[in-house]
Amino acid sequence: MSIKPARTRVAPSPTGHAHLATARVALYDYLLAKKTGGQFVLRIEDTDLKRTVPGTEQEIFDGLRWLGLQYDEGPDIGGKFGPYRQTERREIYMHHSKTLVGNGSAYPCFCTADHLEKVKQEQMKRKENPHYDGTCRNIDPGEAARRIANGEKYTIRFKMPKEGVTIAHDHVRGDIVTENAQLNDYILMKSDGLPTYHFAATVDDHEMQITHVLRGSEWLGTFPLHVNIVRAFGWEEPVWVHLSVFLKPSGKGKLSKRDTTLAASEGYSVFIKDMNELGFTPEGVNNWVALMGWGVAEDDVMNLDQMIERFSIDHLTPSPAAINFQKLDHFNATHIRLFTTEDLAGRIKPYFTREGLNVSDDVLLKVVPLLRERLVTLDDCLSFGSFFFKDDVTPAPEDLIAKGLDAKQSAAVAQRVYQILLAQPDISHERCEPPLRAYVEESGLNANQVFGNLRVATTGQKVSPPLFETMEIIGREKCLARIKNAIEVLEKM
Ligand code: GLU
Repeated sequence: MSIKPARTRVAPSPTGHAHLATARVALYDYLLAKKTGGQFVLRIEDTDLKRTVPGTEQEIFDGLRWLGLQYDEGPDIGGKFGPYRQTERREIYMHHSKTLVGNGSAYPCFCTADHLEKVKQEQMKRKENPHYDGTCRNIDPGEAARRIANGEKYTIRFKMPKEGVTIAHDHVRGDIVTENAQLNDYILMKSDGLPTYHFAATVDDHEMQITHVLRGSEWLGTFPLHVNIVRAFGWEEPVWVHLSVFLKPSGKGKLSKRDTTLAASEGYSVFIKDMNELGFTPEGVNNWVALMGWGVAEDDVMNLDQMIERFSIDHLTPSPAAINFQKLDHFNATHIRLFTTEDLAGRIKPYFTREGLNVSDDVLLKVVPLLRERLVTLDDCLSFGSFFFKDDVTPAPEDLIAKGLDAKQSAAVAQRVYQILLAQPDISHERCEPPLRAYVEESGLNANQVFGNLRVATTGQKVSPPLFETMEIIGREKCLARIKNAIEVLEKM
């Protein structure tokens, strides 16, 4: 069976930091478009001018690129269905709103804010859900034209059918049936000439020939409106998918602003812009996000190509997904282990250089195999491996004291180790390990007393990659100088 190429879109509003929810829609959109040989579109829904936050549009561009979800059309790259910013499409909405007024599916409404507020208060007193009272619903077209010509302010409202039901079909949720009497005459065009989200999105999805609308489940409530608008135009409906809700890590309740702050205090984030800084990889984030709403086996490790291969909207699930940052760690660590040495070297280098360390690529390529298995996030390379790129290390003096020994005894052990290493022609693993092991045997000390002490002296820290490989990379001169320094510190204690 041949699959029709899908045109998908992610349509974020630039009203705050680009969120994981946007990443998830974008990912599924991208997968579906790639899988079917179609296109993935980025549209910026910026008609709510009061809520627009400068800089967040750029954050969306950067975030999607960082994730590797390059869109085929968008505000910064153009495309044949542009413009892709809604504030640049005012005439299109105006034109289409006139069509709906013309065919009797919409009407101009002159009700003032005061009147609407009064109606609302009365409805609330009567314990009714606030809804438009229909004052202008059957306004005479001649009167409307006169009032518009007189410069009166007006909105355009959708004339929602009053009887019967609306059946809206969601691909993963099935038919959603709503009594039309429950639906409101929603505003399509505001009095400032800008469309509401509902109208702009519906018009654009048609104009941009979008075949599949994937979006958050917060739009389920107004889904019947969108379906009615499409039908009022006589347009073909896209396939609609309302994705699952994100829950708090505990699984109890929807993700809130407080959870975001809490995540930040634990070194996590729900914002795409923070992921790189925190040491997460696009592969890890995509894999994690993919499985929040896609019913494949939980710990399935996939890169984008593998996801494209396996993706189907039939496998998307409406069940809520708890944000589980431990799983993000898991996927991130798993992908890090799959990177080639060169690839991983290129990815961790910036974490060292931004700390002001001078990183030689030769050394870095030797370091990577020792670090790879230890990294959960890329910035873990700093705690495990900064010492490779430092001239000196400054261990905490008390860490230099071997367990069960005092400072003087520890200095003597370090002195002996120094002599042994000095006697070797090089600091290779093969040369150094046997004589040091022999020393452990003959001294009656335990391995940890000798090697733990040596590790702290040469790396400055108690935990490091395997000691002998590590010393080999640090090099003979530096190792000897660091041990000498440790002896001095111990002797002064
Ligand atoms: N602008 C809407 C949002 O940011 C997009 C909803 C949709 O995809 O239709 O939530």
